[in-house]
This record gives sequence, C-alpha cells and structure tokens, in this order.
Amino acid sequence: METKYIFVTGGVVSSLGKGIISSSLACLLKARGLRVTIQKFDPYINIDPGTLNPYEHGECYVTVDGHEADLDLGHYERFTNVHTTRANNVTTGRIYQSVINKERRGDYLGKTVQIIPHITDEIKRNVKLLGNTGKFDYVITEIGGTVGDIESLPFLESVRQLRWELGQNSLCIHLTYMPYLAAAHELKTKPTQHSVKMLQEVGIQPDILILRTEHDIPAQMRRKIAQFCNVEPDAVIQSLDQPTIYQVPVAMHAQHLDEIVLRKTGVTPEGEPHMEPWMNFLDKMNKAEKEVTIGLVGKYVELQDAYKSIDEALFHAAVYNDRRLKLVMIHSEKINDSNAGQLLSPLDGVIVAPGFGQRGIEGKFSALKWCREHDVPTFGICLGMQCMVIEFARNVLGLDDANSTEMNPTTRHNVIDLMEEQKSISNLGGTMRLGAYDCELTPDSRAAKAYGKTLVSERHRHRFELNNDYRQDLERAGLKCVGENPSTHLVEVVELEGKRWYLGTQYHPEYSSTVLSPGPLFVDFIKAAISYHEEKQAAE
Ligand code: GLN
Repeated sequence: METKYIFVTGGVVSSLGKGIISSSLACLLKARGLRVTIQKFDPYINIDPGTLNPYEHGECYVTVDGHEADLDLGHYERFTNVHTTRANNVTTGRIYQSVINKERRGDYLGKTVQIIPHITDEIKRNVKLLGNTGKFDYVITEIGGTVGDIESLPFLESVRQLRWELGQNSLCIHLTYMPYLAAAHELKTKPTQHSVKMLQEVGIQPDILILRTEHDIPAQMRRKIAQFCNVEPDAVIQSLDQPTIYQVPVAMHAQHLDEIVLRKTGVTPEGEPHMEPWMNFLDKMNKAEKEVTIGLVGKYVELQDAYKSIDEALFHAAVYNDRRLKLVMIHSEKINDSNAGQLLSPLDGVIVAPGFGQRGIEGKFSALKWCREHDVPTFGICLGMQCMVIEFARNVLGLDDANSTEMNPTTRHNVIDLMEEQKSISNLGGTMRLGAYDCELTPDSRAAKAYGKTLVSERHRHRFELNNDYRQDLERAGLKCVGENPSTHLVEVVELEGKRWYLGTQYHPEYSSTVLSPGPLFVDFIKAAISYHEEKQAAE
C-alpha cells in the first residue's frame, strides 16, 4: 500500500489538543493493524525545544535517538507504543538551517534562494522523510500553531502543494473550537466558519472537521457547518471534553473517525480496530476507587505541562495498581526543614523532579531529608537523583558542603560533577548527554526486580553525573549504586538500603511509559506507596 499522508491543522485558538487528536487517530489506525507514525512541524525558529524553558513550551521530551522534542511526541508514543525519532519533530529553524547550509555549500548556485520554492521544498522533503522509509502506511503530520499565524504560512503552503501532488493519498483534518455563550445558551459556529475560510484562502480545503466543544453539538448545527465549509456532514466530528485524554480514541471511534479517514484515502475499512488492551486499561481506570496520593516536588508546579511525562507515567502506574492518582504539586521554593513534615506527611509517596540550576534546590534537599528519615517511598529523577546523592553526602556522610558543580563550581565535595565529555562543550543547544543508553542493574536490586531483568535502556538528558570518587563512601553508608552504564561506568541508579523504596535514576524513565507498556519503576513505586498508605492506615 502506498503511504498515505494526513495533515492536522488547527484554528480559532491554540491548545485545542491537536496532539491528542493525532495520537487518537494513530491509536485507532494502529489497532487496525496499520503501520502509523506521527510527526510534528513547529513554526518557531529554535532548532529544537531543548533551549526553551518550561514556561515557554512545557516539558521537553526526549526521543530514543537523543532528540530534544516537543511534548506532543510524548503523547504520540504513549498512544501508539511506537518510538519517535529526530525525524518526527521539525521546526522552522531546522528547515532554514538546512536550506542555508545547502546555499553555503553551493547547492543552489546561481539561484536566488526563496521561501517558495526552496523553504517549501525543504518542508515537503521533511514531511515525506518517514513515509519514504517504506515503514509506514500512514504518516500523520501535525502542523503546530494556528491558521492565520504568519509563521505557519510556509507550512500550510507546503501542505497545499502536497495535497495537490498526493491526491487521494492525502487528507486534511482541521481542528477548531466551538465557543458556548452561556447568556444565550448557544454554541457558536462562526469562528469555525472563519477559520475554515482562512484555510481555504491559502488553498486548503479540509476533508474532516473536528470541533472541540464543552457541549454536545446538535445534528442540525453539524449539518450547517458541513454546508458552509464544504465538508460531508458525517465528517463533522465533535470532540467533547473527556475525563481523561485516554478516552479520546474511543470518542473518535464512536463517530467513525478512523473509518472516514480510511475511506477518504481509498482504503476499505474491514471490521473493527482491536482495541481490547486499550479498553482493558480504561476499564481498570474507571473501576479504580481507592486513591494513591503522590507529591511532586519541583519548581514549575504551577505549569500544567512542565512535568507532563512524569504525570502520565504516574497515572499509568496508578491504573495498573487499580488506584486513582491524586497528584499534589509541591513548590520546591516553598518547602524547607521546618514545614517539610506538614507538607509531606499526608503523602503516600514523593517524586523529586528533574531540573536545572540553583532555584528551588534547597527545598528538594529538605524534602529528601524528611522522606529519608521518615522512610517515605521516594523517587528521584535526574536532578532529583542528584539531589538524593547530595543530601545523603551532606547529612549522612557529614560532608556539609557537598554539592553539584552545577550549583557551586568550587565546592570541595563535588559528589555530582560535570561529565568528562561535557567539559569542552560551550554551545548549549543539543549538547547534553541525550537519548537512550544501556544500564546494567545489580541482580538483587529493587530496580532489577521492578524491571524483571538486569539490562535496560532508558533515555537521558543531563550534563552532570555522580562522581565515582565518592562511590565507595556512599555505598558503605548504604546508598548503593545499583545501575551503571556498562561501557562508561556512569552511575544510573541509586537505592538506599533498608528503606521501603528510596530510589533515584540519572535517566528519565517517564519518557518510555505508555498506556500499553507502563514504566516498571513507576508501577513498583506506586505499589510501594500503596503498601505504605495501608501501613499508615493500619497504625491509626
Ligand atoms: N541539571 C542536571 C544535569 O544537567 C539534571 C538535568 C535533569 O534533571 N534533566 O545533569
């Protein structure tokens, strides 16, 4: 079968959930046995989101091949269980960089280099990159931003050209918003009509409209939209708010989104998608009554998307443990030695988040000290693991000024230090230790038991590491280094012996947790949190 290309654009407002819609469609097509990948084109100039702070763009996701990517790629993986790569996320910056490099090399010798055709050709080349591997039946391309933005114009022009070139092997889905005017008790179609008109102005006729709405859209209103927008009535689909994002594929299938997409791309739908494992997850999720309460200590707690993959990994793990997740965000700048007990004692488990820089770091130490002394299940991720080591070195080994050289470059006890290969690097973009590396686990460790194996591969995003000069002292005092990279001997996992569950990973296990394959460490952590909760209850 020839590769089919589906383009997903958005209008009216941003944050409509294009990523979730794309992921849901991919999930349904995959459940029909098709090979699917999703890619995102972002119209900003940064080469990748690695240098953006979470206030700008939420979490930075990392692919197995070490690309710092938009957080939507996390959704793609969680919904499809298929790895994404560097090719799945392209920005305007990457496109321009490539064109300018070609120009300097002389590839366009004699020609004036222009947005059309040179930039659009480069966009089109990138759109087709994954399709050309022959590995996919469907390539879903999400265009970031909102129709009408100046910066997305070259992408839309490329979509227009591709639609023309690919014919029935392509399709455009446009996502819009239906506002509800409470005073008039009315849903409004006009913004959708305007948005479609704007898309038509750049030469794109959407084939399917998905309308994000907080209220059910009456059939006659859908017919009206179909008529005004040149779309078939059954291709006007509503996307009502769902209790969780994982219900969206089911809501889309109920309105035949997958069948419509197949038919419109010349494929006859046969039977139903095999959604049983997915439905089992939803069933478990819906049946869970008891709660497990986890605290997340970090400095971006007011931002919904800053720790997206951790939130989702915890959610998956809670569902597989038949629990509802109650996540309590704890601002690392607001926790200290005197209020730690009050803030942390209601919790069943604590996660100390990844991060960069000094801000909020002392709060992480206070939280970890309290959790360690009170034997609370505790999970440190990346910077969180480094903080575990520093807190332990300070308060157990008695090295008062123990620190990471990230926080204090001249500390006498650099228990966390810059990795050797990082020392000569001055550029900040894309230069961390990134992507998946092997980790060998000590057979009897908690981590090995959780994974059910001793060789794992997880993703990284860091410059600093546990300083192996301190390894013996740390281990002698009980902080065991139970995971290390087999070739470089970098410490990947630490565990405090004699505790319920006190474990830190230099890597980010959250990136690989999906609905159908939850992160083993998260599942084990939640299990420990549940036992701790039950022990606390029994003691009351
Ligand atoms: N700032 C730390 C480092 O660079 C940790 C990074 C992280 O938590 N992702 O090593």
